[in-house]
Amino acid sequence: MPNDLPTDPIASQLKQIRDRIAEACLRANRAPGSVTLVAVSKTHPGAAVEAALACGQMVFGENRVQEAEGKFPALRPAWPALRLHLIGALQTNKAREAVRVADVIESLDRPKLAVALRDAMAREGRQPRLLVQVNTGDEPQKAGIARAEADDFIRACREEHGLPVTGLMCIPPAEADPRPHFALLAGMAARHGLAVLSMGMSGDFEAAIAEGATHIRVGTAIFGGRPAPA
Ligand SMILES: *Cc1c(COP(=O)(O)O)cnc(C)c1O
Repeated sequence: MPNDLPTDPIASQLKQIRDRIAEACLRANRAPGSVTLVAVSKTHPGAAVEAALACGQMVFGENRVQEAEGKFPALRPAWPALRLHLIGALQTNKAREAVRVADVIESLDRPKLAVALRDAMAREGRQPRLLVQVNTGDEPQKAGIARAEADDFIRACREEHGLPVTGLMCIPPAEADPRPHFALLAGMAARHGLAVLSMGMSGDFEAAIAEGATHIRVGTAIFGGRPAPA
């Protein structure tokens, strides 16, 4: 019996997200190709990544260097278009591994890390693109450069350290309306002439697209729930 309905939940959830991205772009008068979906596969096995790859999803996000090293290098030979974004807080002593495994590092958020990444890139001869993570809600427990320090930090990363910063990333406070945070990040990127805006997750990516997101990071809505962090 012919049946075009995807039976794999990852395939059908990916299709739903793509449809919602296209609709959000239409509402915002944006080209559907102007938003890149970063499929956040953290905690999910390599088989889940392969299921997404088989549906044409090529861009992934992981928040831990070690987990990324365990999943992605093995997939690259078969999938040369695969791109990996590191989206989690990064320790300076992991900078070298991060530069080796990632195509984009979205969590540049302090001067020490800028120096560590500069040195790691020089040693590895590899230059992943970088996004500066801004703590738009100035939450003490959260990663990201403080709002008031962000402009100077972005300038220093590019001009003093010569780092390949292409954009900004944020994670708005959990309970807040994310729109003003997305708008703030978009304004900051425009001031610095930065093209990439990584903002919006499973619960708020449509609002992020309305505010100009070029990259949305979606995990749960594609791969399902994750175990609560220990
Ligand atoms: C886990 C994670 C996401 C994905 O969150 P979902 O709500 O599962 O879509 C996005 N961005 C960052 C930085 C994350 O750590």
